[in-house]
Formats: sequence, structure tokens, C-alpha cells
Amino acid sequence: MNRSLFHFAAPLLFASLSLAQQPATAPAHHRAHAATAPLPPTDKIWANLMAGNQRFVAGKTHAYAVVSLRRELASGQKPHVIVLSCSDSRVAPELVFDQSLGDLFVVRTAGNVADPVGLGSIEYAVDHIHSPVLVVLGHQKCGAVTAACSGEKMPSRNLEAIVDKINPAVTQAKTYAKSDDLIESAIKENVHQSAKDLLANSEIVRDAVKAGKLTIIEAEYQLASGEVVRLNPPASGQN
Ligand SMILES: [Zn+2]
Repeated sequence: MNRSLFHFAAPLLFASLSLAQQPATAPAHHRAHAATAPLPPTDKIWANLMAGNQRFVAGKTHAYAVVSLRRELASGQKPHVIVLSCSDSRVAPELVFDQSLGDLFVVRTAGNVADPVGLGSIEYAVDHIHSPVLVVLGHQKCGAVTAACSGEKMPSRNLEAIVDKINPAVTQAKTYAKSDDLIESAIKENVHQSAKDLLANSEIVRDAVKAGKLTIIEAEYQLASGEVVRLNPPASGQN
């Protein structure tokens, strides 16, 4: 891989990071992530996302101080979480996890599939920002998965490329799902398929997971309730 972009961008991202540090008394949701602060363990990061999701479900989201946050983050970012999610307008990760500027490094594609460009974006966050958690977030009634389940030919090569990435999940779901729950089963399989693709197609992601520096969490968003449900249980002994 040509890493010259990273070498160019890294100094810009990490310049003057001390400006991002906030007084210890600042409320957690008003505090930018200081690059020098130790990263919280994975379970704490996930618990924070779940707490945000519960606020979203209850309609009691935080009023973030976006003006001061924006200024603090102008000097650098240190998001704890990478999210690979669907482009669907109902599944905006910052909203459903009630997070703010600088909290999530988000890659969105229809069907939450990772093509080389999306994977490259994720590798950037893993390799240079060192985000320790990667959430693959699917959702109920996903149009991209529904299209793949239909088996119909797509009207363009680009749309076909999305369906091609989802097809293995549909094939897997067909081994056990009945026709009336094929789509919902394929949606869950597709989250798992995307997580497997990340490991299979990226040495950087694979090495980070092996080294215990990155945890991949598979999850599904429930359209009506607003809840995010984890699909893969935490590994025993995982921090
Ligand atoms: Zn979708």
C-alpha cells in the first residue's frame, strides 16, 4: 500500500493535540478526546455507546456544546470508535448512539459492505488513529440486502458490486431461514459477512485484532424502537 497519504495527513491530524485536552471537571459529553489520554477498555467504550443508544431510544439525547467541541477538535481527532454502517438515512450512527463531533470515525455504504476504498478508510483509523473498537452496524429492512435476496439483476455494475458483496450472506441465510424471514436472517448474516470480509481483506485490521488492539463488534439497529442490539457476544476475557 502507498502510505504517503498517511504520512502527509498524520502531522495535520495530530498537530497541537494538547489543545484538545479539557479540564478534568468538564462533563464527559463536553470533553474532546485527548490524544495523550489512555484509551478506555473495549467494554467501557461499548457501554458508552449503549448508554448513548438508550438516551436516543428514550428521546433524551445530550445537548452537545458543539461550538466549543468544534474549536477543540480543530487541532486533532481521536475517535474511540470506527463504525461501518449502511447509508440508510434512518441509521445515522452519531444519532443512534447519541455521540458528537470527534466521537465516531464512520464509513457508510449501502448494505454496510466494505469495498477497497471503505476498507482503506477503516485501515487509516486503525493504523493511524488507533481506534480500538470497530462496530459493523446493519439494520432491519435493509434495502441493499433486500435487493440481494430478490436475486434480480441490478441496473448498473456499481449496484451489482454491492449485491455481489451481500450474496454470500444470502446464500448462508438460505441454508436455514424460511422465506418469510430470509431477509432479516440475511441482514444478520451480512453484518457477520462484512466483519469476516474486513479480516479477510485487510492485513492491518487482521493484525490489530490479533494483537488485541482492535475489537470488532457486530450489531443490528432496530428501526422502530431505535435500539442497537449486539449480535456477537463479547469474547471471554476481552477487556
Ligand atoms: Zn441498509
